[in-house]
Amino acid sequence: MSISSFNPPRRTLMGPGPSDISPQVLQALSKPTIGHLDPLFVNMMDEVKSLLQYAFQTKNEITMAVSAPGSAGMETCFVNLVEPGEKVIVCINGVFGARMKENVERVGGIAITVDGEWGRAVSPSQLEDTLKQHSDAKFVAFVHAETSTGALSDAQTLCAIAKQYGCITIVDAVTSLGGVELRVDDWQIDAIYSGSQKCLSCVPGLSPVSFSPSAVDKIKSRTTKVQSWFLDQTLVMDYWANNSGGKRSYHHTAPVNSLYALHESLLHLYREGLETAWARHADQHQALAQGLADLGIEFIVPEAERLPQLNAVYIPEGVDDVAVRSYLLNEFNLEIGAGLGAFAGKAWRIGLMGYSAKSENVLLCIAALKQALNKR
Ligand SMILES: *Cc1c(COP(=O)(O)O)cnc(C)c1O
Repeated sequence: MSISSFNPPRRTLMGPGPSDISPQVLQALSKPTIGHLDPLFVNMMDEVKSLLQYAFQTKNEITMAVSAPGSAGMETCFVNLVEPGEKVIVCINGVFGARMKENVERVGGIAITVDGEWGRAVSPSQLEDTLKQHSDAKFVAFVHAETSTGALSDAQTLCAIAKQYGCITIVDAVTSLGGVELRVDDWQIDAIYSGSQKCLSCVPGLSPVSFSPSAVDKIKSRTTKVQSWFLDQTLVMDYWANNSGGKRSYHHTAPVNSLYALHESLLHLYREGLETAWARHADQHQALAQGLADLGIEFIVPEAERLPQLNAVYIPEGVDDVAVRSYLLNEFNLEIGAGLGAFAGKAWRIGLMGYSAKSENVLLCIAALKQALNKR
């Protein structure tokens, strides 16, 4: 066996995640590991909580990072909130909405789907029609930024409708957090999850989540045990709640160095300011869209419903999907995303997430694509 150290090349990451990570965040990872119950670490975790409350625009006491990727944040929401036999309205307009349905069914809930068109935002009127037919539904779940299609849904409106029908709202903000406007408290979002490796530009493997007081009440009033021991929030709430006695007990070993990195990336977002970060994503998206239009490449999503941080475009007629992506990777160290689900082989997904949303990346991507398309 001859195995040597792994030395990855420096790529430019313009896919659906992970995104580019800044040198400072990478440096944070290599700082000395300390115990996860060390008072200094506990103090840093309090700062992570405050920074997450800022990023989510919430005062929710239960705001934390689950020690696993975005998919675990999704599972945390469903496994804690939904009890067997409860009805959940799930809006599906792409791959991640379909995963929400899978989660509902696996915890014994009843999923009522609002089936939308792929590449379009979730339709508020379709949601309202479904709520009228299912007055016993307890939850409404949807994906704010559908990374599989590049569509942005109107979370504020969808939550307002859900609230009129007395539902608890569950929102996937894996790709939206830090990239587009998102206001958890103002928009009446009860349970939300995100991921570290998209617009937060941190390493993969952490999932910020936040629960409103009504979501916490729902969890506390459960009559059945949460199926998952690891994701059971009733066991970790004490760790995160502000019990000034500082009673933090062992549940699992926190991924210490990854949390240093999250702290650093959230600090960058805080220093830049949310509004400025949202505007930067929008500006870079405009520049990319102009460059793509010049190359004759068309967007899948209508302009008003497009995600700035995830640009889903049709692969031009006669162009070899895999050949172009390999060319970009090998010649330019540039990664763009393939199509997912219904769009596999038909679309590219060009990410402008977090630290990746900058002019030099836009210019590189357009120049590299131009060369790749001319080559065929
Ligand atoms: C990436 C993504 C997820 C899953 O996150 P992982 O970190 O890959 O587990 C869930 N929902 C959406 C919308 C995503 O883009």
